[in-house]
Amino acid sequence: MSVKVVINGYGTIGKRVADAVAVQPDMEIAGVAKTRPNFEARMAIDKGFPLYVLAGRESDFKNAGMEISGTVEDMLKAGDVVVDCPPGNVGAENKPMYDTAGIKAIWQGGEDHELAGISFNAHSNYDEAFGCDYARVVSCNTTGLSRIISTLDAAFGVEKVRATLCRRAADPGDVKRGPINAIIPELKMPSHHGPDVTTVLAHIDIDTVAIKVPTTLMHLHIVNMVLKQDCTSSDVIEVLGENSRVRFVGEGITSTAEIMELARDMNRPRSDMWENCVWEDSINVSERELYLFQAIHQESDVIPENIDCIRSMTENERDGARSIKKTNKAMGL
Ligand code: NAD
Repeated sequence: MSVKVVINGYGTIGKRVADAVAVQPDMEIAGVAKTRPNFEARMAIDKGFPLYVLAGRESDFKNAGMEISGTVEDMLKAGDVVVDCPPGNVGAENKPMYDTAGIKAIWQGGEDHELAGISFNAHSNYDEAFGCDYARVVSCNTTGLSRIISTLDAAFGVEKVRATLCRRAADPGDVKRGPINAIIPELKMPSHHGPDVTTVLAHIDIDTVAIKVPTTLMHLHIVNMVLKQDCTSSDVIEVLGENSRVRFVGEGITSTAEIMELARDMNRPRSDMWENCVWEDSINVSERELYLFQAIHQESDVIPENIDCIRSMTENERDGARSIKKTNKAMGL
């Protein structure tokens, strides 16, 4: 069955999800919704995606010479599942509209867990979203943490996690937030990211602290974990190496800037790096205590997760590992 997917909110995340859906053999884009007739709306038209708009904005698009297929409400009638991608906290306002349309809905990490009731990460809890009507794909940071925690928990057991998140101040295209030249500590300690991980991995003891740093490229995590079983650094490398969404970096890569350069060299779309980038040389285990550095490309690590979430919710693939494989293959990951 080809699942008809519609995207409400065509910005950083929405346009990437649309492209990733379009290359899956078992899904198709039935529409994307834009608020304004800007260059991204033009690109959606050029890519052949049916363009829908917020009710009342039709004339803005007509005046800009952009052909539209109807309003967001019309779009919802064309889809089996809507991927909601407006800015954080806006998605919650859309729930009554999705309820009325009777369409399955996926929200993003900017919304609260309670809105959907199920928070999703493919390696951590694919089965939990199977056949459900609502789910939320957790944020970029939570996705990055959940991937490695669930993998190491399955292999060795995780007693506790303590992580420091150095967060990018803004996305590269987000000129509204810049220019920025400061380091901003998040004064709420521990930060909200730890509890967010427990929305997908309820049994994990995790605390996080966060600072914002003046970069737009990636987040960087300093992770400390106490494992339940004795193991060596090589054991951890072997286990993480089996996770297709973890990429080891080294060979002269000393910074997030060089990871982005690598993504460009790989001809990745938009120079996206979908995997967690773990510095192999940073992996160090002593007396069950593990340390590592990982970099997370905030604009793109959640994209394959959205695809797996669609497959789980629409019952298009029962097995999480098989869905991950299909998604990776189609995206070139
Ligand atoms: P964005 O600002 O880049 O894009 C949002 C888009 O939605 C814009 O095109 C905007 O015009 C449009 N929009 C605004 N109001 C709308 C409405 N009422 N209905 C439909 N569209 C509307 O935002 P983003 O970075 O793509 O974030 C989307 C969601 O993904 C948020 O929940 C965010 O927290 C989450 N997220 C973002 C990142 C990231 O780094 N950018 C990473 C992971 C998760």
